[in-house]
Amino acid sequence: MSMNELKVGVLGATGAVGQRFVQLLHNHPWFRVSALAASERSAGKPYREAVTWRLDTPIPGFAQDLQVSRCEPGLDCDLVFSGLDSSVAGPIEAAFAAADYAVVSNSKNHRMDDDVPLLVPEVNADHCRIIDYQRKRRGYDRGFIATNPNCSTIGLTMALKPIADRFGVRKVAVTTMQALSGAGYPGVPSLEILDNVLPFINEEEDKMERETLKLLGTFQDNRIRNAQTVVSAQCNRVHVQDGHTECVSVELETKTDKEGLAEALRTYTAMPQELGLPFAPRHPVVVRDEPDRPQPRIDRDAEDGMAVTVGRIRPCPVLDMKFVVLSHNTIRGAAGTAILNAELLRTQGYLD
Ligand code: NAP
Repeated sequence: MSMNELKVGVLGATGAVGQRFVQLLHNHPWFRVSALAASERSAGKPYREAVTWRLDTPIPGFAQDLQVSRCEPGLDCDLVFSGLDSSVAGPIEAAFAAADYAVVSNSKNHRMDDDVPLLVPEVNADHCRIIDYQRKRRGYDRGFIATNPNCSTIGLTMALKPIADRFGVRKVAVTTMQALSGAGYPGVPSLEILDNVLPFINEEEDKMERETLKLLGTFQDNRIRNAQTVVSAQCNRVHVQDGHTECVSVELETKTDKEGLAEALRTYTAMPQELGLPFAPRHPVVVRDEPDRPQPRIDRDAEDGMAVTVGRIRPCPVLDMKFVVLSHNTIRGAAGTAILNAELLRTQGYLD
């Protein structure tokens, strides 16, 4: 193992998010997967037998015969990515952090803990510093917990951050059209979603409204102070496989026009781009000028699924400006952002 390689594990490796971790970590330049863990049902089996693989690339060779472990400390790795079911993620993740593992999670359980960073590296990389306080407060030595937001919040905040920095955002009204893969497998019954739109996703609106304020908030004196923005979310499930589309209206502190907003979004870069992190998209926000973009099928894979795409920028007669943002919900919206978080945390000294 080279100097630069860090051993990582995946908790919930057999699930929808876990499979994406296994797929995306294949050939990662810094991280080598040395442990896969899931429930009692899977433990003891080779990964290829435990998993019902549903991605359109084959199970990577490294994972095929790796024996699935139980989700208990003792795994042969220094960092664990968690795609655990939220009914069990809370205490399992805390046990790993207490046992000196870095825990980088997708699950909702610890997102709003006031000593846990809720991170999207292009939005609030500086919030990772709260890990120092978390370690002191919880008595963790080398371990910690870091989280990423809900998938729809990631797309929204990546578009809002460049706008907030340049113009200030007072109010946000967002309506989502969310893909089926966000509901896991088997997810929504086919007879409920064919020829249909479901105007309800359990807890989703509440998550978007709360998590956005923490992400756009400021870190100071061991505290994250929420942004003063007002956010109203309406979330819908639509008949799309991958890619969340969100229609957003914003009220700004400083007024601007279509060109001003497009320029702020198109030119935005942040710490992942400056550091050249392996998973960082060159342009976190791709701006399209065509009148009928972005579309999930065409735009979700922009920059390998790590960029969000914004289009239809125009004035809003109710607030100030409106636009459409699209993001790949299981790459940028889940495992991809978690991997980028781990890369960021490594460069910031939290994995030494
Ligand atoms: P899933 O497909 O149902 O997978 C759940 C995983 O948890 C499986 O590997 C399962 O193992 C494991 N598990 C279940 N019960 C367990 C137990 N008692 N002990 C240990 N492991 C257990 O779920 P998913 O769709 O991947 O979602 C996983 C998590 O990610 C959820 O918390 C979800 O809310 C979150 N999520 C986040 C995002 C995001 O951050 N943007 C997006 C999607 C999902 P077995 O196969 O052995 O049962």
